[in-house]
Amino acid sequence: MPATLEHYWLPFTPNRDFKREPRVFSRAAGLYYYDTAGRPILDAVSGLFATAAGHGREEIARAVYEQLLELDFTSSFYRAHPLAFEAASRVAGLLPAGLDRVFLVNSGSEAVDTAIKIALAWHRARGDGQRKLLISRERAYHGVNLGGTALGGLINNRRAFAGVLPAVAHLRHTWRADNIFSRGQPEAGGEELAHDLQRLIDLHGAENIAAVFIEPVAGSTGVLVPPKGYLERVRAICDQHGLLLVFDEVICGFGRTGKAFAAQTFGVRPDILTMAKAITNGAQPMGAVAVDRRIHDDILAAAPDEAIEFFHGYTWSGHPAACAASVAALDLYAYEDLFARGEALAPHFAEGLHAFADLPAVADIRSIGLLGAIELKPAGGPGKRGYAVQKALFDAGLHIKSTGDALIFAPALVSGQAHLDEAFSILRRVLSALR
Ligand code: PMP
Repeated sequence: MPATLEHYWLPFTPNRDFKREPRVFSRAAGLYYYDTAGRPILDAVSGLFATAAGHGREEIARAVYEQLLELDFTSSFYRAHPLAFEAASRVAGLLPAGLDRVFLVNSGSEAVDTAIKIALAWHRARGDGQRKLLISRERAYHGVNLGGTALGGLINNRRAFAGVLPAVAHLRHTWRADNIFSRGQPEAGGEELAHDLQRLIDLHGAENIAAVFIEPVAGSTGVLVPPKGYLERVRAICDQHGLLLVFDEVICGFGRTGKAFAAQTFGVRPDILTMAKAITNGAQPMGAVAVDRRIHDDILAAAPDEAIEFFHGYTWSGHPAACAASVAALDLYAYEDLFARGEALAPHFAEGLHAFADLPAVADIRSIGLLGAIELKPAGGPGKRGYAVQKALFDAGLHIKSTGDALIFAPALVSGQAHLDEAFSILRRVLSALR
């Protein structure tokens, strides 16, 4: 084991296995990582759904450097700086109308826990403070802070902490066997799956429920694309019962599903929307919560003029370097027309990914925009195969994410067809050897 690894406790990693056989990136440029020996490894998951415009973008690096020399840090408590307003208004400009009050945070997990507090604060502000129960879904991932852990639907992530988590009821996930090998939105079951929300409302009482948290496409748990009609119906049920609808777009945001946000791809408008990852093209840690103006205004109106309206915030909320990275990244996305480019590349991506349906080890393939998954048939017990294959792919020169038996792909929006073809050719070599 290299001496420098000894003190380092890696997150979400089998540390003992990793340290026997470390996989270390020492450099990145464009669509490639390079390991310590200088070997290129094609990045087919944008780092971790973050580097939409590719790695090492000079415009962003320069903006961060210049900002640190100009104004390195101010907290955002009782103080502000111009790039914080600019980042907030630029983000608002990409969202559906009215979803335009933006709270800045430092990660997806913080965005989710902030959204929970905003939902609770809004009901309280309206004299409806008994609405505390949260609803999310099986196979959801909403980060690792306590609120997001409670919302999460992955057993391993949640069970060990069960005693200290806020109350959450889980809807069914949206994967169905009759929808396998669907491209884009599956046909079957949207209405029926959404009706599960009515079941939970009947069970717990709408008057006790604050909000429903949904990843429009469940991303890190295997790219579960919502069947047609599902999100529309969930929206209608929320409206009927006074529940807030929160879209967690930490992965879906910034062009990943075809439009700027999945809210636009699917034509369904949430009341609150969380984002992170590609908000800075991965160059600085940052997240944000976009809030419907009426929710924001109600929370402010409920407090006296000189009182803090919302007792929440982070030292690094709106950090100048993160705001500089975000404004520069959003400039790049606009200048390079990145969301449209991603959307134009999506059919080639879907074509290439779905071509793996012929392999004996493949159980399902799902995709939308530039987000996709190949689900492998389990081997050595459910959920064990993805990790082994992900390691084999790294050795063959391809960086992806795995969850359970699913291999997950989210190529940069600046990818060319040739990059995708290179990824698919490595993938075919490795997957063809599986039975
Ligand atoms: N929500 C979703 C939908 C995510 O995919 C993630 C991260 N994969 C998070 C929240 C948590 O984000 P972070 O790791 O930045 O805290």
